[in-house]
Amino acid sequence: METKEKETKAFIDEICSIPGGEKIRLCIQCGTCSASCPNVNKMDYTPRQIIAMARAGMKNEVLSSNSMWCCASCYLCTVRCPRDIRPTELMHALESMAIKYPSKNASITTPAMYASFSDFAYSLGNVPDVGFMALYYLRSNPLRALKMLPVALSLLRHKRLFLKTRRLKPEAERQLKTIVDKAEELAGRI
Ligand code: SF4
Ligand code: SF4
Repeated sequence: METKEKETKAFIDEICSIPGGEKIRLCIQCGTCSASCPNVNKMDYTPRQIIAMARAGMKNEVLSSNSMWCCASCYLCTVRCPRDIRPTELMHALESMAIKYPSKNASITTPAMYASFSDFAYSLGNVPDVGFMALYYLRSNPLRALKMLPVALSLLRHKRLFLKTRRLKPEAERQLKTIVDKAEELAGRI
């Protein structure tokens, strides 16, 4: 088998091995997912194109694109897909792969947002408004944090941001940690 063919097969197998990616071989390229997607105009490639490119072994183009990060998890594509492919899960599977991909798109800051959210949820059982935004900007773009400071102060003044946070009850906190542990295990981060 030629090297390119081997790489293509390896990429498809990799996607298929992640929960949500198993069914891309069944896609008939009808485009219903792309036509249903409310965020398609923000994506580098539509959901239908992403599936076609994945099947063509275009790993770099797929994993460095912004498409999966623009997915709002509305599930319209999933409920309308005639092949039961579940493109929403595929988008999340590609996010997991993209985080570990060395040539990932450095301008995409969504992973920093996800990490900041789950770090606070895990350690505090809550996500404090100010702390979450501060951590997100520090991780993604500290200069932007300074620019956003006047906005944060204005929101605090108008009681649209809160410094105090309410902790979850111990049992709810334990359940939340179990969910985060499982999510990280599925994403291969533990
Ligand atoms: S709706 Fe389903 S079958 Fe049609 S292009 Fe999208 S994923 Fe493929
Ligand atoms: S779940 Fe994501 S990819 Fe599917 S239609 Fe909604 S925003 Fe688009």
